[in-house]
Amino acid sequence: MSILEQFRLDGKTAIVTGGNRGIGRAIAEGLADVGANVVVANRDGEAGDEAAAEIADDYDAETLAVETNVTEEAAVEAMVEATVERFGGVDVLINNAGIVHHNPVEEKSVEEWEHTIDVNLTGAYRCAKHVGEVMRENEDGGVIVNVSSMSAFIANYPQHQVDYQASKGGLEAFKNQLASEWAEDGVRVNNVNPGYVFTDNIVHDGDVVETWRDEMLVEEFAEPDDIAPLVVYLASDASGYVTGESVVIDGGYTVR
Ligand code: NDP
Repeated sequence: MSILEQFRLDGKTAIVTGGNRGIGRAIAEGLADVGANVVVANRDGEAGDEAAAEIADDYDAETLAVETNVTEEAAVEAMVEATVERFGGVDVLINNAGIVHHNPVEEKSVEEWEHTIDVNLTGAYRCAKHVGEVMRENEDGGVIVNVSSMSAFIANYPQHQVDYQASKGGLEAFKNQLASEWAEDGVRVNNVNPGYVFTDNIVHDGDVVETWRDEMLVEEFAEPDDIAPLVVYLASDASGYVTGESVVIDGGYTVR
């Protein structure tokens, strides 16, 4: 198989949580571009339907929108059932759905902390658990990619987001253990750890943005499309020897 063919996902089925917008949308498009059937899982049925229809048109791909709040286990189970019903299985899971609360520790409520952990960390666990029931039965196993963050490894400043750091740090340990436990079933588990990507998710305050820029080795902040190719690589056979790994993609932010 040629190198380029190893990046293809023809006939494979990929679920992307939060696939309707931001980084998840770019990942969903990237996976469709290399031939995967793509399930756009997100909270808002209308936005999911629209994204799935556009991706199908733009990439001549098979897509399915499923309304899935990753904090609800029954919804996650229904997402897996709908995927299996439509495509016959699941080969790739991208745990992308994520939120952040920007406020200092002393002002943060326990409810906000729990909400962030529930979406970013426990949400990934719920999805892996139920997708894993199907994936681990596959002859070819499967792939899980968690969209973590460089925040798993560093303290961010000047913004305050301790719940977010804890959730992304937790994804590191989660990934290591899951990769170990499911290796015998042929399931690879890796994380991607982006730096600042201009989506709705981040602070757009001018002074804050300039503080970040001072730490970067490249001049421009990432766009969602800059993250998608790395996820496609990790989802494909091109990365067949990579598991239990985290790949930072941050324009050199964390080396300073
Ligand atoms: P956006 O805010 O643009 O998108 C977040 C996505 O997650 C949306 O699709 C949203 O759905 C979905 N989502 C949120 N909560 C839930 C939930 N409970 N159940 C299901 N879906 C949910 O953020 P980004 O694209 O920037 O972030 C995507 C991932 O990338 C996150 O995990 C984030 O932590 C990570 N990341 C982002 C960075 C950045 O600089 N932007 C840097 C490093 C990591 P809806 O449209 O319904 O709200």
